[in-house]
Amino acid sequence: MAKILGIDLGTTFSAMAVVEGGEPSIIENKEGARTTPSVAAVTKTNETLVGIQARRQQVTNPENTIFVAKRLIGRRFSDEEVQKDKKLLPYEIREAQDAGVEIKMGEKWLKPAEVSAMVLRKLKADAESKLGETISEAIITVPAYFDDSQRKATKIAGEIAGFEVKRVINEPTAAALAYGLNKNKDQKIVVYDFGGGTFDISILDVSEDTIEVKATGGDTHLGGEDFDQKIVDWLIEQYLKDEGIDLGKDNLALQRLKEAAERAKVELSSSLETQINLPFVTSDSSGPKHLDYKLTRAQLEGMVKEYIDTSIELVKKALGEAKLAAGDIQEIVLVGGQTRMPAIQEEVKKLFGKEPNKSINPDEVVAAGAA
Ligand code: AMP
Repeated sequence: MAKILGIDLGTTFSAMAVVEGGEPSIIENKEGARTTPSVAAVTKTNETLVGIQARRQQVTNPENTIFVAKRLIGRRFSDEEVQKDKKLLPYEIREAQDAGVEIKMGEKWLKPAEVSAMVLRKLKADAESKLGETISEAIITVPAYFDDSQRKATKIAGEIAGFEVKRVINEPTAAALAYGLNKNKDQKIVVYDFGGGTFDISILDVSEDTIEVKATGGDTHLGGEDFDQKIVDWLIEQYLKDEGIDLGKDNLALQRLKEAAERAKVELSSSLETQINLPFVTSDSSGPKHLDYKLTRAQLEGMVKEYIDTSIELVKKALGEAKLAAGDIQEIVLVGGQTRMPAIQEEVKKLFGKEPNKSINPDEVVAAGAA
């Protein structure tokens, strides 16, 4: 039987899986990574880059590096969210003829679905070369709150990429399926999804043959990248104090700070402290200069406490909308790479008084459930 590719088309990262021997299995991309940045770019020499290569040159080529297309897909240009993003995004967007959004990338104006299709096309090509066969069918996941237009545009993105899109399913539903939670009778489930760019909360009512979304909530502008930014801001502040140099004004240094900040954050999920060391980060009249700071887990937790608190408040709000109390919830599923942070796991556990499901890699669970 031909394989169907399960795709978690994420705001910041995407993942893909197929079922092999009855079990979902994550497919690595060409670079050997299990997730792929949902980023596409055209360079000054007119080369198209997708994934990690596009992300690596983001800070130095901001106006032609398109990220978070998922925030724009299937939305009207006049949509409040789009107008908010227009002010924040470093690339240009405008109203399309059909009242949707168009994004400027190099000399071209593209629909968000066309940008997402570039990411999907890479996933398709990488999966095909890994598996040694043509993959023509896909199931793509979307947030539970996506409306018809956003779902349709996601399906179109898949079709532009050359897939026959068999189904578009809800991300929290896929996560619940990955844990087999539909096999138990009638349960209320919370899916707490902290990704790179968004925080989504979904409350599901799961029974053997139906999964009903009772409430959704979250913040489309809160994610792991905000955590990274806190570390970047802290590094800039320290360096300015110690060396009198503002690294925030230096795009190359900034790109390196951003990558180092994310690495440090990830490391602090398993270690209590880490060293952020960037040789030759800048230079002045005395020659090349280096950056070297220690960051502890406790310091990081202090920096991002407000974000974690916000997420917990948003969970409570969604529970209220579903007319449920924390004690009514049987299972909690953690999704999104940021939920690897111990402080997040602790706060979630404290709220519900039970251990969340976290045995499946949080950045892979949606793709696994889609496959
Ligand atoms: P996702 O979109 O689900 O792939 O989530 C990606 C986000 O999770 C990014 O902001 C990553 O920096 C973050 N992340 C990945 N691994 C970890 C980790 N071990 N600890 C903390 N954050 C992580």
